[in-house]
Amino acid sequence: MSTTPYPHLFTPLDLGFVTLPNRVMMGSMHTGLEEHPKGLAAMADYFAERARGGVALMVTGGFGVSPTGALALGARMMATEKDVDMHRVVPQRVHEAGGRIALQLIHAGRYAYNPKSAAPSAIQAPINPFRPREMSLEEVDQTIADFAHAAVLAREAGYDGVEIMGSEGYLINQWLAARTNRREDAWGGDFERRMRFPVAIVRRVRQAVGPNFIVIYRESMLDLVTDGSSGAEIITLGQAIAAAGATMINSGIGWHEARVPTIATQVPRAAFAWATARVKAAVNIPVIASNRINVPEVAEQLLVEGVADMVSMARPFLADPAWTNKARAGRRAAINVCIACNQACLDHTFNGKLASCLVNPSACREQEFAVQPAAQSLQVAVVGAGPAGMAAAVVAAERGHRVTLFEAEARLGGQFNLACRVPGKEEYAETPAYYAARLSELGVTLRLGQRVRAEDLIGAGYAQVLLATGVTPRRPDIPGIDHPKVLSYAQVLSGAARVGPRVALLGGGGIGVDTAHFLAHDPAAPSPGRDVATFMAQWGITRDPAVPGGLAAAPLHGHPAAREIHLLQRSTGKVGARLGKTTAWAHRELLERLGVRIWSGVHYERIDDAGLHLIHNDQPVCLAVDHVVVCAGQEPLRDLQAPLAQAGIPVTLIGGADVAAELDAKRAIEQAWRVAMAL
Ligand code: NAP
Ligand code: SF4
Repeated sequence: MSTTPYPHLFTPLDLGFVTLPNRVMMGSMHTGLEEHPKGLAAMADYFAERARGGVALMVTGGFGVSPTGALALGARMMATEKDVDMHRVVPQRVHEAGGRIALQLIHAGRYAYNPKSAAPSAIQAPINPFRPREMSLEEVDQTIADFAHAAVLAREAGYDGVEIMGSEGYLINQWLAARTNRREDAWGGDFERRMRFPVAIVRRVRQAVGPNFIVIYRESMLDLVTDGSSGAEIITLGQAIAAAGATMINSGIGWHEARVPTIATQVPRAAFAWATARVKAAVNIPVIASNRINVPEVAEQLLVEGVADMVSMARPFLADPAWTNKARAGRRAAINVCIACNQACLDHTFNGKLASCLVNPSACREQEFAVQPAAQSLQVAVVGAGPAGMAAAVVAAERGHRVTLFEAEARLGGQFNLACRVPGKEEYAETPAYYAARLSELGVTLRLGQRVRAEDLIGAGYAQVLLATGVTPRRPDIPGIDHPKVLSYAQVLSGAARVGPRVALLGGGGIGVDTAHFLAHDPAAPSPGRDVATFMAQWGITRDPAVPGGLAAAPLHGHPAAREIHLLQRSTGKVGARLGKTTAWAHRELLERLGVRIWSGVHYERIDDAGLHLIHNDQPVCLAVDHVVVCAGQEPLRDLQAPLAQAGIPVTLIGGADVAAELDAKRAIEQAWRVAMAL
């Protein structure tokens, strides 16, 4: 008898010709391993580790069905026997590890980074410099044949199935929407005719591979672009896809060009499950939910409510390859939860870099970051329990060192304890919670609430001290900086200071943007990061099945901030310019909707009873504000370094204590791993 706390998640799923052991799927995500110069062996390692972690079925990143359809000129494909040979290692290693894997087949259409791209109509995407040409009738037939051929090749390579990429605004999605399909032939016009293309692909694929091969169709459950498909059309398509022979329907949400965040941390968990549920209710094959599902209690609840038959997650398996086994065993606290920051995964992918994970730097670099036992067990002190200190303590202890972790505050987490108080960043509380469980599991000695002094460490037998003492907020040299109306961002985010109705924020980096969100939010109202209805209202998403794209026609600027906020920076250009590519735009857009006033290119003159005096466009301005909040970056805190070094104790700086200018959890955690792996 199963004793898992998530019984629905661990009920096998019978697909007729094969039974999946549980309802957890690792969804497709491009990591850059697809294009690895040494072939697909590293991708095989990556998937094999996740297969060992217990996931029932995995889907690769997208592989083009033809040179025109590949994501970029020269990107890897599944189109020839040579491709088959290159791929074999992937399913082989996954099968050895006890898992199953499907290959995602993609035609990027107008999203292809290729000057010779082709699409239903010659309409350029706003996110691609290349204008596609309109596919000829012959090319339409050939593309359908390409999908079928690629599926046969995938089966030959050993894959357990294929996923046909029909969402996220790629070719098939382009075909379905009036936004991008203006054809007047048999493949365009009304929805019934536009729908022929995906249905023909699924039918032809099924005919080609026979009955005993998994064919997943990834359907766009919500386009989130103007002139996208309506909810009613999406249901009709789902039914036609099921009838054409798909084994399962997976969910995709939002085109890549949509101006609505769909997977960022500010999106509430399972925010789009309602869109999947309406297809699930109308079809007779298993349906898979996706997007912002990261913890087992949420996945279980979706199955309990009948929203879907299976759940798909991608990034959570970067964060923790053993997610499934831990969930099955009821070890929820041991799961290193994906906080949806995108910083090391999608931001890397969109910058042409190999994906990894902020909370798990070993993701996609399994060999390089394999934690090996230390040659000799040392007594190690880690000072500071922010992200860097927690990560260093865990990795050092995993290697067999005897670790004591000191922290001045009464709890673990450092800057993450401030971050998680920002509406839309609640996920950041998961990381300290994970480390608390892991440190306890590893028997690390915790000394919380103790501001350690050099004399406490000298003579205490430590062979190594890792200084992760973090940062202190920078206090810029502005006349009046000691005025009582001046606060630090830490005072504000921690709740230690009450902030008046008019406020100026000095500094438009990540913390300035976060603090603006924090102050714009009325604490009596639900957080848009937790409450789906609030999030949907903020971004103008409607459940009305008649509305194309699921975007409300009403103006989206209906959520004024809880107070008057001025966000200022001395430099010109956009605020939050150094934030990640996949999230910065959404932060800026939301600040604008909230009515936050942005000032770039200012010179601060002074702060006094009247407010903040500055020069802007050569004109003096006085912002009559109640408070001025300093968000001007940080200085490293490393007071212990010199006395310890003088006493002859080897000291290594990590995280913000090392480089405050780029205080950044991704860098801090990766550096902590590297330092702890070298001890
Ligand atoms: P930051 O990104 O370095 O920004 C500091 C801001 O303060 C800048 O906008 C700078 O703008 C201003 N500044 C610097 N020195 C100043 C001075 N002497 N006087 C007045 N203004 C000054 O630092 P942060 O905002 O504290 O963020 C720290 C790190 O955390 C960054 O790496 C950031 O990316 C990361 N973070 C990321 C997120 C996220 O959502 N991904 C959120 C929070 C933090 P001017 O010089 O133009 O005035
Ligand atoms: Fe999740 Fe952030 Fe890791 Fe990406 S980098 S997998 S979003 S925790």
